[in-house]
Amino acid sequence: MLEKFLIPISRRDLLKLAGLTAAGAVLSSKDSAQAAPVAPNQSFALNADKIPVLMNADVCVVGGGVAGTAAAVTAARNGAKVVLVEQGIVLGGSQTQALVYPAMPTKTFNSDTPYITDLNRRFYMHGIDVDFDSDPKYKNGGDARQYTPELLAAIYDEMCADYKVDILYNTTLVGSETSGGKITAAIVHSIEGLGKIVAKTFIDATGDATLSRFAGVECIRGSDVTGRNQKMSFRFEMGGVEEMKVYKFFVKKLKDDWCETKPPEFEFAKTTHTEKFYFEGIQRGEVTKDDVAYIQAFTIIGKPGTLSMNCPEMSPFVYSATSVVDRSKAIQQGRIMIRRLANFFRKNIPGFKNAFISREASMLGVRESWRIRGKYIMTKDDYFNAQKFPDAVCRSAYPIDIHDETLELNRTLGKGEFYEVPFRALVTNELANLLVVGRCISTDFPAQAAVRIQPTCMSMGEAAGIAAAYALKNAINVNAVDWTLIPAKERSYVSAG
Ligand SMILES: Cc1cc2nc3c(=O)[nH]c(=O)nc-3n(C[C@H](O)[C@H](O)[C@H](O)COP(=O)(O)OP(=O)(O)OC[C@H]3O[C@@H](n4cnc5c(N)ncnc54)[C@H](O)[C@@H]3O)c2cc1C
Repeated sequence: MLEKFLIPISRRDLLKLAGLTAAGAVLSSKDSAQAAPVAPNQSFALNADKIPVLMNADVCVVGGGVAGTAAAVTAARNGAKVVLVEQGIVLGGSQTQALVYPAMPTKTFNSDTPYITDLNRRFYMHGIDVDFDSDPKYKNGGDARQYTPELLAAIYDEMCADYKVDILYNTTLVGSETSGGKITAAIVHSIEGLGKIVAKTFIDATGDATLSRFAGVECIRGSDVTGRNQKMSFRFEMGGVEEMKVYKFFVKKLKDDWCETKPPEFEFAKTTHTEKFYFEGIQRGEVTKDDVAYIQAFTIIGKPGTLSMNCPEMSPFVYSATSVVDRSKAIQQGRIMIRRLANFFRKNIPGFKNAFISREASMLGVRESWRIRGKYIMTKDDYFNAQKFPDAVCRSAYPIDIHDETLELNRTLGKGEFYEVPFRALVTNELANLLVVGRCISTDFPAQAAVRIQPTCMSMGEAAGIAAAYALKNAINVNAVDWTLIPAKERSYVSAG
């Protein structure tokens, strides 16, 4: 069930972009062990005074992914006027655009925060029960949740409508305006051209810390051991699959019964039992070593006859997640790999005879790129010590899960142990009115590999929404919010420490 793990790395590359900066500045920095800070001639200045104000809000959330949607919905639910900026035309980010499925389990009890409970309830109302605790030790939240991508997108729209979040689709952040230690405007590009979104508080939920980098927050990327980011994946779905034939082939023919999940919802993967099966495909010239370096496929609840493919993975030696050129090449190459894989499955797995590529991701799956350096940097020691924090915003026992080709770091926590994520990892010293949520919060490389899963991203987004609304009501800056002073009943999570 778990994505396979591998080891840490993390090189520091400090981007100090002061004041007003723009897209060219951050997108052109190339990831390599010697990567230099962005050169001045790679940036261009926007004449901010001439850019019209597109919207005014209390809270501007940039990035409508897993964490950003939770932040926007929760801030609005707590009384803030919220604008949510999303470059695509669907909320959910990795879940709906990169086709990342299912939500991994937190593997600990009582990890569901109210936003997750609400989301699960809405799925139930739409006919899908995702709120099951198949394992009694995971009471209230530790299990994997299977959020059908298309329904999830519709439910996110529904939640935003219910709480009156203004969504700006097809709108891309291209710069920021800062003054006096605050972000004063997010500069976006939309069908109307360049525009400013003026807000009191900003939430960076881009996954890539894009708003933070534009605004001059110190960021790091990749491993400080190898300098590499985690592997990216270009995911796809296959329809027309006869699932039971597939299950029988892996379990009966290849004797591969490793997986805890069983029909009707199950997965298959490349394991020690099936390695030979894929190796023979390479020998016959049907697939390459890279194509089958990592194979994992899940049935999708609510989409019978369809499998979600967590592959192919793109080698981090070749493709950096912090280079736009590499990301583009990974997409081109990934598309070719997808077709080879689909043909290989059709030819060699009973149940795939009539299968077809039914969906291709519209966003590359990026596990890790840049991370901010916030007030607190969560580390692998916090993970291994099952650290609790007074200002914790959520809990998890999901392991360090690094996709790279070198070192293994797959020590899980002891039975019943869990760690918490502190609020201080979501705020910075530099910018008083900025919150950062999702996979780019302030962590070291290994800790990021644990907190990056979807339920944890949702809970941190929810906490940011609460903190943003609380700061507005109390006329304080979000980076001065003391999470422990927010009345417990208004907090989405209270520390177990
Ligand atoms: C291949 C892969 C497999 C994974 N497997 C699992 C799994 O099985 N289970 C699990 O729980 N987790 C898994 N994860 C991890 C998890 O899905 C992600 O870490 C998590 O979704 C990140 O959430 P986020 O909100 O930080 O970013 P995202 O969900 O990626 O959202 C970022 C959003 O910001 C938008 N955006 C970015 N830049 C801009 C801009 N400049 N202007 C406007 N909008 C912008 C994007 O379009 C996107 O909607 C996997 C990740 C990958 C890549």
